[in-house]
Amino acid sequence: MKYYDKLVFELSRPGRSAFTLADNGLDRSETFEGPLWRQSDPELPSLSEPDVVRHYTNLSQMNFGVDTGFYPLGSCTMKYNPKINEEAVSHFNGIHPLQPESSLAGVRKIYEAMDASLAEITGMKHFTFEPCAGAHGELTGLMLIRSYHMDRGDSARTKIIVPDSAHGTNPASAAVCGLEVVEVKSGADGLVDVESLKPLLGPDVAGIMMTNPNTLGLFEKDIRRIAELVHGCGGLLYYDGANMNPLMGVARPGDMGFDVMHLNLHKTFSTPHGGGGPGSGPVGVCEKLVRFLPEFGGGSFSLNPASDALRVSGFHGNFGVILRAYAYILMLGKDNLPMAGRLATLAANYIKESLKDCYRLPLPQVCKHEFVFDGLVDDGAHTGKSGATTLDVAKRLLDYGFHAPTIYFPLLFHQAIMIEPTETESLETLDEFIDVMRRIAAEAAQDPDILHGAPHNTPIGRPDETAAARQPVLKWTGKA
Ligand SMILES: *Cc1c(COP(=O)(O)O)cnc(C)c1O
Repeated sequence: MKYYDKLVFELSRPGRSAFTLADNGLDRSETFEGPLWRQSDPELPSLSEPDVVRHYTNLSQMNFGVDTGFYPLGSCTMKYNPKINEEAVSHFNGIHPLQPESSLAGVRKIYEAMDASLAEITGMKHFTFEPCAGAHGELTGLMLIRSYHMDRGDSARTKIIVPDSAHGTNPASAAVCGLEVVEVKSGADGLVDVESLKPLLGPDVAGIMMTNPNTLGLFEKDIRRIAELVHGCGGLLYYDGANMNPLMGVARPGDMGFDVMHLNLHKTFSTPHGGGGPGSGPVGVCEKLVRFLPEFGGGSFSLNPASDALRVSGFHGNFGVILRAYAYILMLGKDNLPMAGRLATLAANYIKESLKDCYRLPLPQVCKHEFVFDGLVDDGAHTGKSGATTLDVAKRLLDYGFHAPTIYFPLLFHQAIMIEPTETESLETLDEFIDVMRRIAAEAAQDPDILHGAPHNTPIGRPDETAAARQPVLKWTGKA
């Protein structure tokens, strides 16, 4: 029997317990009465302390994380999370958001220092720290853009332009904000096509949402021209900062012409994410939008926003994440921050060039921190069997101890494999990954069935992902 064969409820034996409390002599029925007094005991498993420890330790080992292995998940910037970040937050465990502001001077200082650091890194004027994720930041940023237009009495701007290569959250956030999404096409080089953009511009355009480098890992070299055109029609530019890693300390969205942006602190600034980890998506704005930010409604930073300010979460977002990101910025310092992005860019190009004879590379330019393959050059279909797909390659990687890259995104290619190595991987790890990817390509060419059946070595094989997403079983039903 393997450890993952049993649920904690099945390991339960009546009477076992992981704690002992001395009898305090109180009769519980005297303290609670009436409807508050439950009629039956809760159905909780009864386990000894070692059973509990083994159960959770074993569960943690079924998981994959940046602390267990290489995690080249494109678009997600799964860089190593330095443990000194955790040390930093451990000093703030006792604070509560409802403490009087006068007793939170240290917290306030950290917010102010982060505001100044992020402003310098991005070329924005000020940030709000309320949004708790990138998508949350997008929604906040779009609401700020709308506030700006409405404040000028311009209510006709209902459209937002989004490139066809955009992350799915961009059109989703725009729709949630009540804006109409208009798609602009990419050219053959994977970049926004300026000629396709021009006819979309007009007095009904609130702005454009872009990420740069884009989701193909390519730098939008026409960005200054695009900014000129969008500003020319009265729109604003929103920067999706999820791809800021290669540009940190190298180039600034503010200098490219962007007016509003978010950063994913949990990606670029090394705080743990994935699997539901807390995020932070602070939104920065240029000078003319500062007065719409909750923290700056009164002119200078305040932990007590004006009551009529735009609020998108309680208090000031995930302070622990913000503090971890601050520790990361201080640890690298001004001189070393740009090195992170340069190394990430080097690592991505190194993998791309080392594998392009085995995997189709539709856009051969020098990339930034990530790039996209479009399936295998030789998928083994010539063997008379069905050819190995991108899903097969991703599943086979798990057998070799690597997390899979992002697959089937962006939607521009049918067999997309999107690889983002990040700067924290050693040359040895990159070489091992390249070696395994080549081995998988050879397996596909010789016997694609090995890949069709993968993974062979993991606790579970290929779950029904649709059912897992739509009909998840998340609690014990009393039946095995
Ligand atoms: C991750 C990502 C987002 C969304 O960020 P979340 O923090 O996951 O909400 C948006 N755009 C791009 C390009 C991303 O990679």
